Amino acid sequence: MQTKIGFEVHLQLKTERKLYCDCPTNYAEVPPNTNVCPICTGMPGAKPMVPNRAAVEAAVEISLMLGCCIQTGKPLYIQRKHYDYPDLPSGYQRTSVPLAVEGSLEGVRIREVHLEEDPGQYDPVSGSVDFNRSGIPLVEIVTEPDLRSPEEARRFLRLLTRVLEYTGKVRPEAGGAMRVDVNVSLEGGGRVEVKNINSVKGVYRALKFELQRQAERLRRGEKVKRETRAYLESQMITVPMRMKEFEEDYRYIPDPDLPPLFLEEEWVEEIRKRMVEPPHLREKRLVEEYGIPPSAARVITSERELADLFERVAKEVNPSFAADWFRTKLKKVLNYLGLRAGEVKFSVEQFLSLLKMVEGGRISREQGELVLRELVRKPREPEEILIELGLLPLEEEELGELIERVLEENEGAVEDYLRGREEALNFLTGKVLKASRGRADPREVVKRLRERLEERRGKD
Ligand SMILES: [Zn+2]
Repeated sequence: MQTKIGFEVHLQLKTERKLYCDCPTNYAEVPPNTNVCPICTGMPGAKPMVPNRAAVEAAVEISLMLGCCIQTGKPLYIQRKHYDYPDLPSGYQRTSVPLAVEGSLEGVRIREVHLEEDPGQYDPVSGSVDFNRSGIPLVEIVTEPDLRSPEEARRFLRLLTRVLEYTGKVRPEAGGAMRVDVNVSLEGGGRVEVKNINSVKGVYRALKFELQRQAERLRRGEKVKRETRAYLESQMITVPMRMKEFEEDYRYIPDPDLPPLFLEEEWVEEIRKRMVEPPHLREKRLVEEYGIPPSAARVITSERELADLFERVAKEVNPSFAADWFRTKLKKVLNYLGLRAGEVKFSVEQFLSLLKMVEGGRISREQGELVLRELVRKPREPEEILIELGLLPLEEEELGELIERVLEENEGAVEDYLRGREEALNFLTGKVLKASRGRADPREVVKRLRERLEERRGKD
């Protein structure tokens, strides 16, 4: 049975001002209904301002990252999409005709990209509406129904949000600012749209549920009717929506208060020149250019700042060694402290000098991780951290003395080893490590101990 899944993904654009007025956009940080004016509350007679250029630019950059063809040189109308809901005082939401069409991302076709405005937030329990969010710019990305399973859909959405976050022009998905409408159908059944899901996980669960529901109906010989459903997060199910919504019901008309947009070819080319490299392409380049495994490249390109840091250090230390550190240690420490790479304050030089200490064998990997944790928590010279943590590596001589002392104090274990009991070596290693208070490198200790013991065997 052929499964078809497509998306309409809405993400808030990260601008200082709203789309059609000068109100600020930090809606979550201020009391309800404070970032408002007659325009974004849809007061009668209030006229919108021309669209915020930063928002238009962000939508164009995102379209370019998705390989879309920008609709330059023709009038792009802002339309009124009519529907009635308490969060929408004017009775319509403004949405542009496609600014860009026919892109693709990893084999999934992007049909079109629109610029929209967010409505307010209605609380059905208290009946109150907060209009702080009303008028925040949104980008809407519409895909063709090219996805075939919930797993594929989840992978694609993760990639898409990674691409969008890379531009630095959208609010992170993690902040709950993403809303996805999913359309899903099975061969022989009608197309069902599930609206307003706000996380990648939610999309995956809604699809799992919906596909099972549709397959079950078809199996029993029943029809799957074309309809719009809602996803209930708390129960992980979809239910029919009371409000029937189909394209023709929106009564689209061009907004008579707004002149159409014109995107100039030259301006688009300027944006293309200065935009960042999309992560999925960067991932491939890192594999080819630095010879690192694809799994490491994926982790490294998960955040732009992480990839930038990698490319700076990979010129000075072995790239495979660095990649392994990013994938295991750095990512682990960041997750542990709940930080994003962009929030890390240490300098490239500080991080590099730590990597060199480990690469050169001056400290062990385990010690390196301890230093890294401190470095992320409170940036300073790794050398200082080593002293503070009492991890300053043992000098050659000091280690030699420790080993001699342990051998003297543990004659029994030495005898055991010479009689062929390998585990005696582990015991002695443990003693040396303990005596060094963790400053000695275990591999080095084993090597030196074995040498000394073999010398003894030679003499006996
Ligand atoms: Zn306003």
